[in-house]
Amino acid sequence: MSNTIATDPMRRRRVVIIGSGFGGLFAAQRLKKADVDVTLIAKTTHHLFQPMLYQVATGIIAEGEIAPATRVILRDQRNASVILGEVFDIDLAKQVVRSQLLERTTETPYDDLIIAAGADQSYFGNDHFAEFAPGMKTIDNALELRGRILGAFEQAELSDDPAEQEMLMTFVVVGAGPTGVEMAGQIAEMSDKTLKGAFRNIDPTKAKVILLDAAPAVLPPFGEKLGQKAKARLEKIGVDVRLGAMVTDIDDDSLTVKYPDGQIATIASQCKVWSAGVQASSIGKILADQSDTELDRAGRVKVGPDLTIPGHSNVFVVGDMMAVEGVPGVAQGAIQGGRYAADAIRASLKGHTPQERKPFSYFDKGSMATISRFSAVMQVPIPGTSKKFETEGYIAWLGWLFLHLIYIVGFRNRVNTFVNWFFAFSTRGRTQLAVTEQQVYARHALTELSYLERLRLADDERAKAKKDLEERNSSAG
Ligand SMILES: Cc1cc2nc3c(=O)[nH]c(=O)nc-3n(C[C@H](O)[C@H](O)[C@H](O)COP(=O)(O)OP(=O)(O)OC[C@H]3O[C@@H](n4cnc5c(N)ncnc54)[C@H](O)[C@@H]3O)c2cc1C
Repeated sequence: MSNTIATDPMRRRRVVIIGSGFGGLFAAQRLKKADVDVTLIAKTTHHLFQPMLYQVATGIIAEGEIAPATRVILRDQRNASVILGEVFDIDLAKQVVRSQLLERTTETPYDDLIIAAGADQSYFGNDHFAEFAPGMKTIDNALELRGRILGAFEQAELSDDPAEQEMLMTFVVVGAGPTGVEMAGQIAEMSDKTLKGAFRNIDPTKAKVILLDAAPAVLPPFGEKLGQKAKARLEKIGVDVRLGAMVTDIDDDSLTVKYPDGQIATIASQCKVWSAGVQASSIGKILADQSDTELDRAGRVKVGPDLTIPGHSNVFVVGDMMAVEGVPGVAQGAIQGGRYAADAIRASLKGHTPQERKPFSYFDKGSMATISRFSAVMQVPIPGTSKKFETEGYIAWLGWLFLHLIYIVGFRNRVNTFVNWFFAFSTRGRTQLAVTEQQVYARHALTELSYLERLRLADDERAKAKKDLEERNSSAG
């Protein structure tokens, strides 16, 4: 089945945006009053506020609070429409984007294209690790992790074998960046506070949380001082932080780790979380195959100063997909990139040429990461200097809550989140501890289904080749 989005010769200029994350959504909203037709194509139905995924995984908030439906957000923006589908091809010469939803292929022509397809988890060439240690990129990931964490406690409760109980109650987080630190801190707090006294055969406060990183520091982008503070705080709440620890293998019930002195050890653990690396969307490769576009090692697109690709001043790449010196892969980089691209398109409607565009310049508003209840680290540049204001502890934690509340899309989501935070942080209770079988097993079932589908297609191909050969032989004979 195939659709082509109809075009009218008297039409307005068509802007196609790929992705409904920070880059894509903020670009679409910036074009609200522009005399253009905006089509946003994304493979997910929602705009996802990734910085709070760890709170979904650890039962503090519900997934809907950080994932409002994109078409509802854009409902009142008359010049915008939304297409659900996975982009699998872009034809730069014909200016067409091809996307797929189930069996249906859609072709969407563009005059201007903004690509904000983000990044996926990277396992540094060990993709098979993903089966045993899910990443933290999507709502599915967060719900699966919630199920795995709580499921491990449930299994431990039923076990009479102390070694098995220890394996089930050992949680390993790989990667000591902001996501890893947040996950490790929250699993420790959940075991220690929320689940305390809720089981009869096990004591959840005895659960082990291990945070591993091959690098020698916690939160490297925050510098040595804040990294040390974060490490000390994690250790205070019981997290075992192991640095210089390189994961060399993972299976169902264990990880193999190589330490700096060459020692190799096995950690018995069923529930593992991977937050060690990112790989930009493979859409970058589609661009590189058809133009002089280059990619960096993480697959990010090396864009020009106006965030476009070589030879195509109407194709912008923004957010986690773009490689721009000095711009980190954070929400503000994507928001500012998306708005820059939208402004460049608006300027071109007024007759400005690409050569007149001012280069994209990133305004660093600072960075923060939470560690546990009442504890975070924060770093904010001091205007006019190359220095940064640094703080940690309660003030930084309040700052984190306030700023993240502002950026959640939708008033009701803000209120719900605020109420859930109030409850979770004042009583240590969590309202979102439900887990379903599908959350835990659906990923494996889907992988198996796609494997069976590939086998079926291969069988069909073989049968067709056999039939062709037989027909050729019979006509030759
Ligand atoms: C767990 C976690 C915690 C984070 N914490 C912070 C934080 O505290 N502060 C901070 O500033 N940043 C944080 N970040 C980083 C921040 O979320 C990203 O930098 C930001 O989301 C990048 O925005 P983006 O628009 O480039 O991509 P994304 O927000 O990832 O959006 C990508 C969009 O593209 C769509 N898409 C992808 N491939 C296709 C395709 N082939 N076809 C169609 N659609 C496609 C996706 O469905 C999605 O809508 C965190 C990230 C994660 C994962």
